[in-house]
Amino acid sequence: MLSTNHRRFGQNARRAPGASVIHNSPANPEHQLSLQIIQYPHPTLRHTSKPLKRVDAELKKIVAEMFELMYEHEGVGLAANQVDLPYRLFVANAEGDRDAKDAECVFINPVLSGGHGQDEDEEGCLSIPGVRAPVTRNSKIKIQAYDLAGNEIMGELDGLLARIVQHETDHLDGTLFIDRLGPAQLASVRERLEEFELAFQSKLETRELPDAAQMASRRAELERLRT
Ligand code: ZN
Repeated sequence: MLSTNHRRFGQNARRAPGASVIHNSPANPEHQLSLQIIQYPHPTLRHTSKPLKRVDAELKKIVAEMFELMYEHEGVGLAANQVDLPYRLFVANAEGDRDAKDAECVFINPVLSGGHGQDEDEEGCLSIPGVRAPVTRNSKIKIQAYDLAGNEIMGELDGLLARIVQHETDHLDGTLFIDRLGPAQLASVRERLEEFELAFQSKLETRELPDAAQMASRRAELERLRT
């Protein structure tokens, strides 16, 4: 199992050049935004995602696009709310290699249990590019979830995949890895986080991003569609 020193959650995430656009009917709110990774402190990253009740063709396309974005940004995991979709779903590839198809996992409605052991390793996040810090996680964890075909997935994970599923399941609950840092670690990344906060504020002011109410109503529409 690779360690996070070799494969990272997020590193120097460049803006995906011409990141993928979903083409579908104008009635569908997914049409309104291209699929791209949102950054801290976007409110969808703090939203508790709802379990999916249906998987349709569009969602399968979304999952394929999520893998693409994850590889473009050299990540090993990506949660749906990181692409501004309020669904309990994440993709992962602990190899971080688009050619390692066997290592690709899609986890729908994941439930973690039976975590044990402690392990500290450095993490980053594609939604907070450039910020890295050591995070303590369970070294082993059980997961129950579904794949895109509706098959149940159950297993006990260790190594990097165990860390990834804990990081990504946190996302689905609106938790970021920076929430798991001690005061000293948090202080060491505080300045960088403030830069993200200022950049976000400025995007709201220039209306490059819709306001909080518009974001919330879009999320609610997407939830009505599939949860
Ligand atoms: Zn993350």
